[in-house]
Formats: sequence, structure tokens, C-alpha cells
Amino acid sequence: MTQSMANNCDTSDAACDTDSRPYDELFLDRSNLAEHLATISTILGMLTQYAEKESYSGRSPAELSTSLTGADPFPEAGIGQDAMANDLEFLVRNSISLTHPATIGHLLCPPVIPALQAEVLISALNQSLDVFETSPAATMIEKTLIARICEEFGMPASSDGTFTPGGTHSNYAALLMARDHWLQKNMNWSAKRSGLPTRSQDFRIICSESAHFSIEKAAAQLGLGTDAVVRIPVDDGHRMKTGSLLRTVQNMKRRGKIPIALVATAGTTDFGAIDDLTACAEVATEAGMWLHADAAYGGGLMFSERHRDRLAGIELADSISVDFHKMLWQPASCGLLLVGASSNFSLMTHRAAYLNPLEDKVAGIPNLVDKSLLTTRRFDALKVWVSLRTLGKRRIGDMIGHVLDLAQRTREMIESTGRLKMLHKPELGCLVFRYEPAADRFSDSVNRQIQQTLMSAGRAMIATTRIQEKLCLKLTLLSPTVREEDLQSLVHEIVDTGRRLEATLTTEHPVGI
Ligand SMILES: *Cc1c(COP(=O)(O)O)cnc(C)c1O
Repeated sequence: MTQSMANNCDTSDAACDTDSRPYDELFLDRSNLAEHLATISTILGMLTQYAEKESYSGRSPAELSTSLTGADPFPEAGIGQDAMANDLEFLVRNSISLTHPATIGHLLCPPVIPALQAEVLISALNQSLDVFETSPAATMIEKTLIARICEEFGMPASSDGTFTPGGTHSNYAALLMARDHWLQKNMNWSAKRSGLPTRSQDFRIICSESAHFSIEKAAAQLGLGTDAVVRIPVDDGHRMKTGSLLRTVQNMKRRGKIPIALVATAGTTDFGAIDDLTACAEVATEAGMWLHADAAYGGGLMFSERHRDRLAGIELADSISVDFHKMLWQPASCGLLLVGASSNFSLMTHRAAYLNPLEDKVAGIPNLVDKSLLTTRRFDALKVWVSLRTLGKRRIGDMIGHVLDLAQRTREMIESTGRLKMLHKPELGCLVFRYEPAADRFSDSVNRQIQQTLMSAGRAMIATTRIQEKLCLKLTLLSPTVREEDLQSLVHEIVDTGRRLEATLTTEHPVGI
């Protein structure tokens, strides 16, 4: 490492190379490339060293905050790279290690190396995918990739898509199009120009009880309010009850409410459940609703020859959310929104003379800002392009299949403990279960403490969720590098920790006191 970044090089300084421009050392070029590669290598070396050791250092928010006292984020004079290395070491040491086999709580994956390499190039090239002139080859690569993914999803020739920061954003953009499409088609009303008519107060968005909370978030932001979201009960497999869906739609229409969109979930966040997409498509078509498939999690199945049939019917959706930062090992953020009829993107198109004038469109110049809610936009498509092309369909399919097999194996391990109760049949990589203490009144506290004990000991990062009022534990398998032995020892440790906590609680709070 060097001090070069901290140098205050003014023209009177004899140490300064008079041939070079004043800030050369701060921007990548041939002369400093080797030095910066060495720095990156040192930092990544640190990361690989700590990542193996523990899932998390176990430090609390207060401890982390104390460590940061005295670190001025904007000092009068730069601290230089050597001192900065200490900051980065602190960060790396106190981060969740996603390559550690016991970091399996949330929908966050370790990134594959091709994607990591692409990520460096994405930042170094810094193309912005708003207009062709700021991203020539990048625009064409993204277009080519999206067309291929639409084909893979079995979408019609009219389909198209756009990369987004993730499922929340994709769901929002999809529901914005659903709202404005309904107004355009049924009232010849442009929401883009005129805002919302009073009739929009009767708009309803339908999804299942297990759908993601970003649906309410979108409804709130779209001026419809969270009360506009109607949640349909789910069956034992956590799938939307289609009978109930039909009755709800009929009731709404009788009461003068307007169901504008149906959100089917392909892979719920807790259970990985996949709604009956074909049945949803039928109901949506019949009722004149937009069908949005939230496949933020489950969309990865489409990349596995063995499992893709489970998404049958998804091609009928008007829009689909897929997150590559979940099942497909991309660094966050990397979401994709697919749309069945590309003309619907025009509902979001706005023009700026300096950026995407109509003349460009007439001349056939592709300006991707026309399809996006964002303006400056990262070239996230590159990491997907590099990953899919270098690994290929077979390898990626095998990796997905392997993770799903591991989940089934883990389910058997959990069931055979006799102490943990599975709450569902796992369909993707997530498993929801509960430690069952002899006295049910300790159930919530034992389960919460299992999660916290494992986390603060740096042993494991698992998650919790609440199902039918009861606190549960959750594992989310995404990494194909986890071994069965790792999972077996984690499951044992969960049980042992539960037993210890239960014993303490029973001694401290005997019945009747
Ligand atoms: C993760 C998830 C989302 C939100 O996606 P982000 O990328 O976190 O914004 C939406 N829907 C489902 C079903 C998800 O699993």
C-alpha cells in the first residue's frame, strides 16, 4: 500500500512529477494499475481469511458504534491508504460472511467469481444505461441478454425487460404499469399527465397472504393506499386459494370495487411456495386484471432444466420480477423486470431534450431510459451476462438442483431430531421450523434466544419469522458450497442450544411462579 492517495501535490512540491497532471494518481491508468490491483488483492485476501473463520464476529450495535467513535468520515486532511486499510479490516471482520456454511438466514447469496470480476469492470467502465451515447456496447449487451431471458421464460415476441435494483423496485414498476394500463384502456385516461381520477379510490390489488410486503409499499406509493391491497388466504402449501380468489373478485365487482391487478407469488419469501400461475392467469384474464408474477425468489428455477416446470404458466403474466441477487449468486443489487407487451413501458417514458429526444427514437437509437424509472443506471446486466455465458446452462442448472436437494436433505435432518418441528414441505431452499420445548409457554423465547445465541457466538446466522403468531426459525440455503456435514452439525447445535436455554428458563421460571 502507498500513501499516494493522501499526497497533497502542488506545483511547488519538488517530489511531484512535473510531467503528470495533478490528480493522475487518483484515476486508473497504465501507470498505477499494478499498485491498485495489489491493494484490491490485499483487501480481498483479508476477506477470504476472515470469511472462513466465523459467520459473524458477534459484536452488538453498541460495540460497533464504540469502535467507530473518533473516526471522522470527512477529515480535514485525507488519512491515506494505510490507515484506511484499518477501516476496511474493521468492516470485513464485522460483516456477515456469506461464504461461511452457517450463514444461511436470509435471501442473500455469496456471489460467484465471474460476477465479482464483472462487478469490478462495471464500476471501472462506469457506463450509464440511460442512453446509447453513454453506454453503446453495454446497451446492446443488455438488450441481447434481456431478449434471451424473455425467450427462456417463454414470453411472447412482444416482450421486453429492464434491469432494476431488486424485487421491491420491480414490483413497484409493474404495479405502476398495471394501474396506468387500466386507466388508459378503460377510461382513456393518462395518469402520467393527469394524475389519478376519483375512480382510482376503488382500485384493488389482489395477492396472497404470503405475498411480499413490497406490494403494500407499492400501493402506498402509487396513491392507492395500503387498504387497496386485498390478501387472499393460502392453503396448507402456502399457495393462494384460487377458489377464494374467484369469490373475492366476484364480490369486489358486485360492490363496485375495481380489481386492477393480481400478484401471483412464485416463491414466497418464507416458504418458497409457488402460486398456481396458470389458474391465476385465467382469473386475471377473465376479470380484466393485470397479472404480475413476483418471482423475485423463485424465478431462479427457470435456469434449471430439472425444476423449470414448476413455473408453468409464468409466461402468461403481464409482468415478472426476477432477482439475480437471490438464487443466481449475483452481488446485490441485480433485479430484472420482464414485461409481456413492451408497449406498456411507454406508460413510464418521459422525455428530456438533453437525454432521449424523440428524434433518437425516430432514428431507431435505443435509449434504455425509456423503459426505466431510473435515469443514471448501473450496468448490472454485465455480471449476469458474464456469469451465464462463462458457466453455461448445464452448470447453473446443476448448482440450483444441488441447493434444492440439500434443502430436502436438511429437512430430513430437522425432522429426525425429534425436537424440531418442520412447518412446511420445503419447495425451494428455505426451511421454516421451530424448536419445541416441553412447556409451550417458552416456545417464543427459546426460539428467539437460539437465533441470538448462535449469532452473538459467531457460530451461525439464521433467521426468525412469525407464523400463526408463533416465532419460528428459518434457514435459507442459497450456496452450493455448503456440505451436508455442515448442515448436520448446525442442526445439532440448534437442538443443543435449545435444550440448554430451555433448561435455564425452566429453572428460572418454574410453573406457578
Ligand atoms: C426478496 C423478495 C422481494 C423483494 O426483493 P428485493 O430485491 O429485496 O427488493 C419481493 N418479493 C419476493 C417474493 C421476495 O422474495
